Amino acid sequence: MDTTTKHVFAFEEGNGKNKHLLGGKGANLCEMTQIGLNVPPGFVISTAACLDYLATPDHALPAGIMDDVHAQMRALEQKTGKGFGDSENPLLVSVRSGSAMSMPGMMDTILNLGLNEQTLQGVIRATGDARFGYDAYRRFIQLFGKVALGVHDEAFDKEFAAIKEAAHAKQDVDLSATDLKETAERFLKVVQDATGRPFPSDPYEQLEIAIKAVFNSWGGKRAVDYRKQFHITPEMANGTAVNVVTMVFGNRGDDSATGVAFTRNPASGENKLYGEYLVNAQGEDVVAGIRTPKPIDRLKVEMPEMAKQLDELRDKLESHYHEVQDFEFTIEQGQLYCLQTRNGKMNTVAMVRTSIEMEQEGLINKQQALLRIAPDSLEQMLFPRLDPTVKADAVAQGLPASPGAASGIAVFDADRAEQLGHEQGLKVILVREETKPEDIHGFFAAEGILTSRGGKTSHAAVVARGMGKPCVAGAEGISVDVDRREARVGLTSFKEGDVITLDGTTGKVYLGAIPTVEPDFTPELNTLLGWADAVARLKVLANADTPDDARRARSYGAVGIGLARTERMFNDVERLPIVIEMIVAETPEKRQEALDRLLPLQRKDFRELFEVMSPNPVTIRLLDPPIHEFLPDEHVLERELSELRVLAQNARGVTVLAGAMGLLHASDALRHEVDTARRHIDPAVVEEVIAKKEAMLRKVRALYETNPMLGHRGVRLGITFPEIYQMQVRAILEAAAECAKAGIQVKPQIKVPQVCTAAELRKVKTFVDAIHAEVAERYGKPVSFKFGTMIEVVRACLRAESLAEEAEFFSFGTNDLTQATFSFSREDAENKFLPLYNQSGILQDNPFDVLDVKGVGKLMKLAVDWGRSVKPDLHVGICGEHGGHPASIAFCHEAGLDYVSCSGPRVPVARLAAAHAALQGQ
Ligand code: PEP
Ligand code: MG
Repeated sequence: MDTTTKHVFAFEEGNGKNKHLLGGKGANLCEMTQIGLNVPPGFVISTAACLDYLATPDHALPAGIMDDVHAQMRALEQKTGKGFGDSENPLLVSVRSGSAMSMPGMMDTILNLGLNEQTLQGVIRATGDARFGYDAYRRFIQLFGKVALGVHDEAFDKEFAAIKEAAHAKQDVDLSATDLKETAERFLKVVQDATGRPFPSDPYEQLEIAIKAVFNSWGGKRAVDYRKQFHITPEMANGTAVNVVTMVFGNRGDDSATGVAFTRNPASGENKLYGEYLVNAQGEDVVAGIRTPKPIDRLKVEMPEMAKQLDELRDKLESHYHEVQDFEFTIEQGQLYCLQTRNGKMNTVAMVRTSIEMEQEGLINKQQALLRIAPDSLEQMLFPRLDPTVKADAVAQGLPASPGAASGIAVFDADRAEQLGHEQGLKVILVREETKPEDIHGFFAAEGILTSRGGKTSHAAVVARGMGKPCVAGAEGISVDVDRREARVGLTSFKEGDVITLDGTTGKVYLGAIPTVEPDFTPELNTLLGWADAVARLKVLANADTPDDARRARSYGAVGIGLARTERMFNDVERLPIVIEMIVAETPEKRQEALDRLLPLQRKDFRELFEVMSPNPVTIRLLDPPIHEFLPDEHVLERELSELRVLAQNARGVTVLAGAMGLLHASDALRHEVDTARRHIDPAVVEEVIAKKEAMLRKVRALYETNPMLGHRGVRLGITFPEIYQMQVRAILEAAAECAKAGIQVKPQIKVPQVCTAAELRKVKTFVDAIHAEVAERYGKPVSFKFGTMIEVVRACLRAESLAEEAEFFSFGTNDLTQATFSFSREDAENKFLPLYNQSGILQDNPFDVLDVKGVGKLMKLAVDWGRSVKPDLHVGICGEHGGHPASIAFCHEAGLDYVSCSGPRVPVARLAAAHAALQGQ
């Protein structure tokens, strides 16, 4: 190890910008100190020291580090006028974790370090408050015991409950100094029993153990799971720093308090200090949700001077960080301290609103307003809310902690949520009294979270908001019985497996499932996306096959349809029989008959799409999938045929029987019965059905392909069955002509799928031109349209120059192009070998989600450059799933594409991603 490396930094000297080295919290404490905020004195031990420590086999601290810590402690003693271990005027510190990425509650913190039997007496003397001293001591023993020595909480909780019961104390504040003294004594014994050793009383020994414990918590299961879930890579955060900070106390009486606040409301974005505080309490009381805190507005009444200072602190934080801050404060006997600050985690509604308002206030510019929002997060604004027309009575009301609505079965612990939610795929709502960081896997598996205790800044609320999951917190009317897996609400109750609904926007809880409706865009989102469109170069179109899809996509801001897959129109229940007739037709005349019936239906489809999107372009792709996909399954047909054959034989038998009745001199009644049976099944009808089914089976067998994805599909179909494509082209051009006649502006674009050679395009173009001329003559005016090709096979990329001679536009079908480039079946790879490829790191991402820039992207670049070398104004876009994925959109921007096309709900994401791409490319 390089012993010259500096690992320990006083808050006055650490570089506030170096979060990687000092952790987010440490860097901010340095920065806050250096801009003159009232931060308790302290120092940071770097993340590099943590990595060195974890890398040594016996987990040894880097050489010399404790000497530096001693020197820093001496400096703290000077700054505070107190002594570490001094029994007259003792210095106490907190030891806090903090990595470069915020991981709320995932790692450990120890408070009141430095207390022992002697310093405790010093604290009591200095404060004149024995109750305060013993309270601090018992908290320290428990926290240190748990975090640094691995003693289970339950052992402490049991003793504490016994003391509370004996003292008839409802809350912790009801306990006397004597009760707390006894608590501390019992806690010391708990530690001794659990560890087999006395509680360490030397403050420096405590400090060293604590530093190591915080370093170790980086590798703890909670932290590792969290990093995995949120894809926190070593480049983003590697190791945790340790912050050693002078303790200040919010529990020094009624002129002391502690709280957490956001500079703006993290649920709505409202420009108003938002938070909670508790008088005469320590910070952990607020976060743990043990006592229900007061809203920050109350501080104006209880401590007006402090409320004023808090407002000033808020302004200073925002004007320095140019970002909403989530900060902790403590008031110690009338003195306000800022203990930490970080960028506030907010839901997307709040992110968008604050972007707009902070820009208007001049705190940030438009670029910053756009760049501070992750494009993917905009999907949160499309979350469902409860259908307002449904009348339902809430059974409980809690705090609206994280917006959105969700229904699911109630489960009462995180393991069960994981089991039922992740493993069995059920929709679950996690119901707890309060949540703790170790419940995190339950959050991942749940649709929503409900707690009966704690405030809007409790663990449950903060984590759910970050995840964008609905959460109702502190629904105190609910009493949760984990053992019985049941919750009581007034006179009613619900058990595990019962469906409940949460509305995280109003804080209401309902029994049963309540329908939800799609959310609306907020005006702020429209403003933000307007700014995005102004800087983006890429246009955003939508993949939409129906007028409804198109309408929704348009309302999300799509400026056209980049892909309408016509096969969905073929699959409509009323049309399928006609489509089947077209396929099984034995003669061209019969096929034409079926196509003639399909033509008006398709014309209507296209006309509706044109109308909805007018005057924007609508790109219609001619039929792509192999036509046997529209026919019934071969095995089903075979089974039906054998049953029909039995039926035909029976019908013939009944006919013979009816004819033979005369031989039996049967009664009139019996003759009548047999005759009725004969008339019920007509053998001729059965034979006719058999003949049709046989014809269909022959066709199914004739069309059978081992590899249909690589077979008779796309343009190959258009060449071998030109009349299908001709019908579609006619329907498109006639629909456009009808619209034009009705004064509706349209921009039809016809695109041909699966093209690999220019000759295919030329062939299709010949009949497109012929039909175009015919339609022009009939409607008295030619319609203008564009003719282009999908680029989704490798050869199309390599022959882009010759394709560009025939096509006015290229549209990359990266679903197929990815399949073709990797030779991975898009149908099977994702549930066969791809997960293992990703887990083992052979492939970083799933290439069907994230565009493979190195391979597929390289082909795309070649195709763009070669295509434009022939036709400089060649219009190029993408319509595979990657068109809605932010990193892939960034690549499309860089590769010079003109547009991306994606599903409707991804349109806002793509608009913002396109703006990010343009800004980051500058
Ligand atoms: C593609 O291949 O990317 C594409 C858009 O077409 P489809 O998914 O319909 O094959
Ligand atoms: Mg395709």
